[in-house]
Amino acid sequence: MPYPVAHVMFFVFCICAIAVYTTLVALLRRNISSRNIMHILLLLFVGGFFALFPDIMAVYNILVNGTVEHCQIGTIPTHSLFFSSSAILFGTIIGYVAYREFGRAVYMGLFAEAAALSHLLLDDLDGADIQYFYPIYNRKISVFAYMDNGLARADLIPYLLTSYAYIIFIFTVMMLALFALNHLGFEFRYRSKK
Ligand SMILES: [Zn+2]
Repeated sequence: MPYPVAHVMFFVFCICAIAVYTTLVALLRRNISSRNIMHILLLLFVGGFFALFPDIMAVYNILVNGTVEHCQIGTIPTHSLFFSSSAILFGTIIGYVAYREFGRAVYMGLFAEAAALSHLLLDDLDGADIQYFYPIYNRKISVFAYMDNGLARADLIPYLLTSYAYIIFIFTVMMLALFALNHLGFEFRYRSKK
């Protein structure tokens, strides 16, 4: 499994690269208030925390059992879409405490969800098999393992998986993060030249 810092950096610098870019530009132009900086630090905290969310049991197990077991809470696998989707709820609660505004809180929840999914994405890239579809389908799978299927595959389903599954996974996580950021103060839009 990648180190915790790698999960945080992957989410911040790769998935949210454009937010890092716009923040740096604003800082260099000194076009940013201390209130905005606090807001961006909150996003950084939420993004960083939820990028580690599926490994959260490691903290408990290190303290209580002296092991680094981190993949289960009871019988529930933490590396699954089912568990990761709880990030929406916790992220929304944090957003509501921070903004007192339900609309913005939901976007914070979606941002947290993108961070939790980016954790599964990086673990998968690292070669881990993940119980994505628990409790509907309990077997562990790796989306990125399909990448290496070679060109000789003629069957339609493996071909589709080989070609699109991992791209769609990365695309979905990035779009979710951008969609949330776009409603949390970052504005990404095309500006046509007149
Ligand atoms: Zn993990």
